[in-house]
Amino acid sequence: MTHRWYGRPYDAANCLFGQVAHQDPETIGNDMRLLKAGATAKNWKIIPNLRNQLHCPGTNNCTNGCPTGAKRSMLVTNVPRALARGARVFADCRVERITQSRGTVTGIEGRFVRAGGHRGPRLTVRAQVVVAAGGAVQTPALLARSGLRSRSGLLGRNLTLHPNAKVIAFFDEEVIGWHGVHQAYQVREFIDDGILLTAVNLPPSLVAAGSPPDVTGLTGYEFRGYNQPRAAALLGIRKFIKAFYLDSARRPFSCNTPVGQNGLDGEWLARPSAAAPSGMPSSRSNPPAPTHPKACTAARRS
Ligand SMILES: Cc1cc2nc3c(=O)[nH]c(=O)nc-3n(C[C@H](O)[C@H](O)[C@H](O)COP(=O)(O)OP(=O)(O)OC[C@H]3O[C@@H](n4cnc5c(N)ncnc54)[C@H](O)[C@@H]3O)c2cc1C
Ligand code: SF4
Repeated sequence: MTHRWYGRPYDAANCLFGQVAHQDPETIGNDMRLLKAGATAKNWKIIPNLRNQLHCPGTNNCTNGCPTGAKRSMLVTNVPRALARGARVFADCRVERITQSRGTVTGIEGRFVRAGGHRGPRLTVRAQVVVAAGGAVQTPALLARSGLRSRSGLLGRNLTLHPNAKVIAFFDEEVIGWHGVHQAYQVREFIDDGILLTAVNLPPSLVAAGSPPDVTGLTGYEFRGYNQPRAAALLGIRKFIKAFYLDSARRPFSCNTPVGQNGLDGEWLARPSAAAPSGMPSSRSNPPAPTHPKACTAARRS
């Protein structure tokens, strides 16, 4: 199988997508500025991140699909380019193997996948060149089950993963998740230990997939946020305050504090007053919230 390597990975990405660039400064969010300020204060090495984007406006929606087309994904780069040159797309089709004849690749064989995962008709494509781009896991699997071998003998043996550990922090100033792009900088101080630090704002679905935080560490603090679901806007509860306490047995729990709904940019007004906010237990943490509703009426908010 003939293949060409473009040298440095960034060169390859630039060649394929045409855009790997630093973020435009005005699209960098407060989370990233705080990360940079913290790293600089500690004299840690921090560098701007090269992102696969073209003038991304920083909506911070990358994990759900870029709403602006700024992310240089296949959707806006090579697929339209290929279509403009006469390529055909076969969607919902699983390539089962790359075919060969006398040591030369001749095409692919696959099968369409019907709704519910049922097997559809077969597809055979004859081609002089086959580009396998099935992702880091499926590409080597496809090559291996097609009987292709790399000269190095390392096919499928170089998978590297980057597991993420989350650290959630409270700040004196406001950090709004969807104002500014994530991962605009990288802290490289600990790269020799295999550790890269950056700041992200995860959508609730990804937060829910992780381990719940240790609520004990949150006690004494309150968290201010914005409800995003449309129902919250209709009900007039866009802003919320959630406070974390220890009960008399020193068990952590959280409660919701009523907030003045005076506009998203308005001052945060805990009800009935900032000095003596009230609230209803809301914690689903372990142990469960105490049943006494007055348990939340506390002034301990350091
Ligand atoms: C949770 C998560 C978050 C990420 N966030 C970001 C981010 O914010 N920004 C960023 O730049 N990168 C991000 N990445 C990385 C980025 O998604 C990948 O680097 C990129 O998608 C890799 O592109 P690819 O085309 O090589 O493979 P993929 O995007 O994985 O595409 C491979 C395609 O091949 C198809 N396929 C596989 N096997 C077969 C087969 N046998 N037959 C037919 N089709 C097949 C798959 O269905 C898939 O559609 C993230 C990755 C993950 C997992
Ligand atoms: S932050 Fe991500 S989703 Fe938003 S415009 Fe930039 S690349 Fe697209």
